[in-house]
Order: sequence, then structure tokens, then C-alpha cells
Amino acid sequence: DLPPIDGDFYNLDLRLTPEQRDLQLKVRNFMEDEVRPLINDHWNRAKFPFEIIEKFAKLGITGVPYEGYGCPNLSFLMEGIIAQEIARVDVSISTFFGVHSGLAMGSIYLCGSEAQKQEWLPKMQKLEAIGAFGLTEPNVGSGVAGGMETTCRFDGENWVLNGQKKWIGNATFSDVTVIWARDEDTNEVKGFLVRAKENPGYKAEKMEDKMALRIVQNAIITLTDCKVPESDRLKHANSFKDTAKVLRMTRAGVAWQAVGCARGAYESALKYTRKREQFGRPIASYQLIQNHLVEMLSNLTAMQTMVFRLSEMQDQGMLTDEHASLAKVYCSMRTRDVVSRAREVMGGNGILLEYDVARFVADAEAIYSYEGTKEINSLIVGRAITGYSAFVN
Ligand code: FAD
Repeated sequence: DLPPIDGDFYNLDLRLTPEQRDLQLKVRNFMEDEVRPLINDHWNRAKFPFEIIEKFAKLGITGVPYEGYGCPNLSFLMEGIIAQEIARVDVSISTFFGVHSGLAMGSIYLCGSEAQKQEWLPKMQKLEAIGAFGLTEPNVGSGVAGGMETTCRFDGENWVLNGQKKWIGNATFSDVTVIWARDEDTNEVKGFLVRAKENPGYKAEKMEDKMALRIVQNAIITLTDCKVPESDRLKHANSFKDTAKVLRMTRAGVAWQAVGCARGAYESALKYTRKREQFGRPIASYQLIQNHLVEMLSNLTAMQTMVFRLSEMQDQGMLTDEHASLAKVYCSMRTRDVVSRAREVMGGNGILLEYDVARFVADAEAIYSYEGTKEINSLIVGRAITGYSAFVN
């Protein structure tokens, strides 16, 4: 007769339509039944569970907000809800999904020609072709807008790409990798759809020994005179401003992922503390433990209400870079606090993989740094509210 464990304390679910709610529960059930049983073992072995891709495709949730090309054309809010549901069970899987559906499909959707969209989006929607997004480099992360070292030049017949990319999710098995490169002539950043499995100038090596997001396959990509035809250059990506449009769209999704990570950790911790007994009583009955749980819940609830509003603004076409950045900064900071308290209330078991929370603790660190670190997203907000840019380029 204990109350149900539910990390949606302010009943934001009640704001969803019955159809939205059904889809949310469909994703939740899929994650619980098909994904949760595989996760800890795959995380431990740093292996991607390829067997879930086909089942994932059947959910029909890829390319959620896009219109046409077989995509569901649902709201950004629904995309966020789905990101939360996936991350609530595992952040690696939500990252795999975010890279494919958000960054890679989003680049094609926002910057591709009609022919490029027709070729790639329908099969990516069905997960028959997997996408990756190559922006970050070994020497340049935060400063990639001005400091990108990967180059492209047109040799009269093809574009020729040279350089390296680092941290590129899904790139060890992607069919198409969006590569961003600086034009040697104009100095502008351009985007290319590199057919990863066919191009001899493209080599992706798996990064080993990651201590977070171990299921996601990140790669170092080396481009050596990698030839790409003009028809595979993203037609509407003509400067870094176009790359930034993609990031603005997906950064809101990363904030939702942080919420999912915090929710998963909170729910696990609450369940654990109600069962675990010390000094003859469940530890959940002790005031200091309740304080941790309430701190977790208040962080979680604040984040949820923030991202809910963020997505409403995105659906109304009002989202700016600074709106997305503020949510990314706040949610990734608060999530760190939630997962660390979740670990704390579980005592020694909090560092064991089998209790899930240790995985959330590690994965929260990756969320904190990718798609713009805390500092970089803070500077984006700082520039918007003060009118002064702290960036040097
Ligand atoms: P750096 O830029 O070297 O930053 C180091 C530190 O310096 C940070 O704390 C940063 O905030 C701080 N800093 C830098 N500049 C400033 C400044 N001006 N003022 C104050 N502080 C500053 N990239 C992709 O392109 N595709 C992917 O699929 C992808 N997946 C990723 C998955 C994971 C698990 C991770 C960890 C990263 C991934 N990335 C990906 C890369 C990610 O976006 C970068 O790690 C991120 O942008 C930060 O770059 P960096 O790691 O090189 O850190």
C-alpha cells in the first residue's frame, strides 16, 4: 500500500493528448521489456545491442518532428517526451537515437536538397540506414565554429575532404555520416553526406575505454583525400550558421535526455530506499534520506517543467539558441546533482552496475559535456542577456 513510484510529480503527463500519452507508454513499455534486460551487460562490455534496431524501427518514432519523407510529423514536445522515456532506462540508447534521428536526419532535413531528403530520410526513418554527425575534431571541440581543421576543396570533379573527427557517435556502423568541413577557398563551413560504407577515403575507428555512455559507439574518423560528389554536398549548408541551426534544434532534445537520466536515477533510488532496511526500518523512513529524495524530486520537477515549456516554444517557432542553451546548462547541472544523491542513498550498492544508478552517474557526465559544454552554453546565454560576447571568435 505504498504510493506508486512516479517521477512525474506535477502530472505533466495530464497535459498530453490521449494519443501522445499512448505513444509515451508504448515507448516506455518497449524500453522496459526489450531494452532494460540487455542494458547493463552491453554497457559493461561496451557493445551496442544491434538486435534492438529492428524492433526500435517498428515503434515508428524516428524523425518525430519532421514533415514528409515517411516521418511522423509530431510535435517537438513529443520528441522530448520520447527522449525522456528512452533516457529514463538508458542514456546510451537515447544518444544513439538522438545522433541518428536528431543530428544526422536533422542536418538532412534542415540543410539537404529535395533529392537528398528523398534519398535518405525515408530509409533513415525506418532505421534501414543509420546516420552519424561529424563535427568535433581531435584538436577542436568547443571552438569548432572558428577553428575547424578539416578541409574541403573542389577538384573540378569532386569535393576532396581531409582531416579528422573525434567522438562521432554511431560512426563505426553508420551508412551516412554528415561531415562538416571548411572550404579551403572561401573559409566557410560546408556539410557533406559521406557514404561511410563505400568511401575508401573514410576510416572510422572505435574509441575504446570510455567510462560513460559505453554502449554508444564513438569513433575517430580519418578523412584522407575522401572524395564526395557535389550531389552529396548538403545543398543548404553554406556556413557554420547552418550547422548551428541543427544544433539549436537538437540541444533541446539533450536537455530532455538529462531529465530522463535524472528520472531514471530518482525512481531507482526511491524504490531502493523503500525496500532497503537498516536499524530495523526501511531507510526511506529516515529524515536525512527523505531530504535527499525530496531534493532529487524538486530538481527533477523543475527540469521537467522547464523542458516542457521549452518544447512548447519550439513547437510555436519561438525557440532561440539561448533558450535551448539555458535548458541544456540547467538540466545537465541538476541531473549531476540528482544522480549523485541517488548513488548516495544506495550506499555501496550505488556503485554496482546491477542497481542501474552507477550507469546514470557515469552517463550524466557525458550529457554534461556534449552538444556544448556547460561553459559554452552559459556563454551563449550570457551573450544574449548582457549584449556582450565572451567568445573570442
Ligand atoms: P574542449 O572544447 O577542449 O573544452 C574543455 C573545457 O574547456 C570544457 O570545460 C569547456 O567548457 C572549456 N572551455 C572551452 N572554451 C571555453 C571558453 N571560451 N570559455 C570557458 N570555458 C571554455 N561531437 C560530434 O561532432 N558528434 C558526435 O556524435 C559527438 N558525440 C559525443 C559523445 C560523447 C560521449 C562525448 C563526450 C562527446 C561527443 N561529441 C560529439 C563531442 C562533444 O560535442 C565535445 O566533447 C564538446 O563539444 C566539447 O569539446 P571538447 O571535448 O573538445 O572540450
